[in-house]
Amino acid sequence: MRPFVYNALPARVVFGLGTIGQVADEVRRLGCRRALILSTPQQQGDAERLASQIGDLAAGVFAGAAMHTPVEVTQQAMDHLRNLGADCTIALGGGSTIGLGKAIALRSDVPQIAIPTTYAGSEATPILGETEQGRKTTQRSPRALPEVIVYDVDLTLTLPAGLTATSGMNAMAHAVEALYAQDANPVTSLLAEQAIAILAQALPRITKNPQDRAARSDALYGAWACGTCLGSVGMALHHKICHVLGGSFGLPHAETHTVMLPHAVAFNTASAPDAMARVTRALASTEAAQGLFDLAGELGAPRSLREIGMPENGLDEAADIAVMSPYWNPRPIERTPIRALLQDAYEGRRPDQALYPTTPTETVNV
Ligand code: NAD
Repeated sequence: MRPFVYNALPARVVFGLGTIGQVADEVRRLGCRRALILSTPQQQGDAERLASQIGDLAAGVFAGAAMHTPVEVTQQAMDHLRNLGADCTIALGGGSTIGLGKAIALRSDVPQIAIPTTYAGSEATPILGETEQGRKTTQRSPRALPEVIVYDVDLTLTLPAGLTATSGMNAMAHAVEALYAQDANPVTSLLAEQAIAILAQALPRITKNPQDRAARSDALYGAWACGTCLGSVGMALHHKICHVLGGSFGLPHAETHTVMLPHAVAFNTASAPDAMARVTRALASTEAAQGLFDLAGELGAPRSLREIGMPENGLDEAADIAVMSPYWNPRPIERTPIRALLQDAYEGRRPDQALYPTTPTETVNV
């Protein structure tokens, strides 16, 4: 066993079917009396239903959550919080809505209940990404971590097949990178391998039948496990590239993760053999990168940057930004192979670790 440091984050998790019925108890348990319910415009109906369900405990609904947590939206939500005299928030939705809850908590310290309806995993992390005048910044603070997560499998039944596939692959990316993280440890590695395996089995079943409650339940559990990994250990090359493509080129979050993951894994395979053996085993595949690429194909998810809106003439700039202040990675991040990797991802080429041979100066770290 190699030496490790393990930091556990506080978490209260209520998981099941129909658990939305327990939200009122959770508000009271926090010692709160007036919750501001947050959602996107698309999920306003669900937010209004929750408001009538919890009755007097609902102070109101703010249905303006948007991708990448724009600070102007947070300001509007803060005004609602104050004007309504709310003493906690309930974020019902995906990573965008949960991001808004975190942004409010950072500014007001009101407790948060997160009710995730995608597999993005933000609810289990103390990380917040915000945008101001088009610039995205990320910060980590214990105040951003929701006090309670209520997972209600029923709320995920409406997640469209396309978003189910890409959101599930987004979740898997957290677990894959956790396995070769600099601060990997036995607890997150165990959780990560189990999460990849359960998602790899559940997602194809959901693609065939989006109403399959057992598969939805497995996927949501897997998403929580992946989010817990993301909240516990540092991420590497894959998350760095996705941050660049989302932040500087406006590519959609979950789709970008889906396209990039097999290529980042191919790049890192020679430098993280034990981690990749675990990914391969979890996927019941013969090779980690190709197993992920095949899974995305089976789910009908996008597999090229071209099809999700990346301009080919932006690849040089993306490579330049990706090698600037790079995240820690098991293999050094050098521009030439990263540029090649981006081209392969752009074209949707089948990933192959042989495309990115390591040089004698690159050591095997993990
Ligand atoms: P999202 O929250 O933007 O949701 C996408 C769309 O799907 C929205 O219109 C939403 O209303 C709708 N939707 C969500 N759940 C639904 C359901 N069950 N049924 C029908 N429609 C539903 O997408 P996302 O991928 O969950 O989140 C992406 C955002 O989260 C990004 O901004 C990303 O940076 C952030 N994120 C942050 C962290 C973190 O730890 N800070 C982790 C992951 C993602």
